[in-house]
Amino acid sequence: MATGNKEVLVDVSGLKKHFVAERGLFGRRESVLKAVDGVSFQIRRGETFGLVGESGSGKSTVGRCLLRLYDYTAGEVRFGGQPIGGLGEKALKPFRRRIQSIFQDPYSSLNPGLNVLELIAEPMKIHGLYRPGKSREEVVALLEKVGLKSEHLYRYPHEFSGGQRQRISIARALSVRPEFVVCDEPISALDVSVQAQVVNMLEDLQQELGLTYLFIAHDLSMVRHISDRIGVMYAGRLVEVADSDELYDNPQHPYTRALLSSML
Ligand code: ADP
Ligand code: MG
Repeated sequence: MATGNKEVLVDVSGLKKHFVAERGLFGRRESVLKAVDGVSFQIRRGETFGLVGESGSGKSTVGRCLLRLYDYTAGEVRFGGQPIGGLGEKALKPFRRRIQSIFQDPYSSLNPGLNVLELIAEPMKIHGLYRPGKSREEVVALLEKVGLKSEHLYRYPHEFSGGQRQRISIARALSVRPEFVVCDEPISALDVSVQAQVVNMLEDLQQELGLTYLFIAHDLSMVRHISDRIGVMYAGRLVEVADSDELYDNPQHPYTRALLSSML
């Protein structure tokens, strides 16, 4: 998608997230893990920004910072121009609706005690969007969008395949009409045969609903297809950002070259 002249929706500047572990007796020795160590990038509205890098390079930590699941050690994230780093829960509430997430393992993120209707209605209720009577139809329409039939409404997560569970978690994320979705390895746990289906569906939903994505992946295969631009993380830093085709055809950083050649 051509996004060059679109507004910046997500602006990450100088972001650091360090984890401090206390070691030794009485916590006398501290060791600091610099999971994210000075990362800056911008995502434009309607764009998919891919984030790749080996396991442990800090991708999920960046995603969790954008979701404000963490406080930041340093730096700032602006969403639609507004800094969200220092906001308390009350002020964050609108952002908790506008920014949604999809994780790798839809089984562990779906409450096994709720049926599909309840799972999808839950975030709507939290954000005051659920209208008894009316919203059930909305949930059915949403299920249809993600390729599930209304006969599934009263079934529980364990009754579905991995791909179907991911469709349910996508419907759940979209139920509150977000603008931005952090997709943290949303297809890594799925069978190869359903990976492309889910990626294609995410692309269709993006077009239809005008969504913006951060798409985290530890390999570069599907991410090229879905992303407009890709950032490469290595040891907590963003070592290269480029248009996706450019990154593959003309990688600049030695680590990007190593990552690409490890896939051949
Ligand atoms: P990736 O998603 O690229 O695999 P992560 O962001 O999950 O990487 O992790 C980056 C580094 O931060 C890893 O060394 C990981 O062990 C560490 N880490 C992640 N989350 C925490 C946490 N909550 N507490 C302590 N260390 C963490
Ligand atoms: Mg991760």
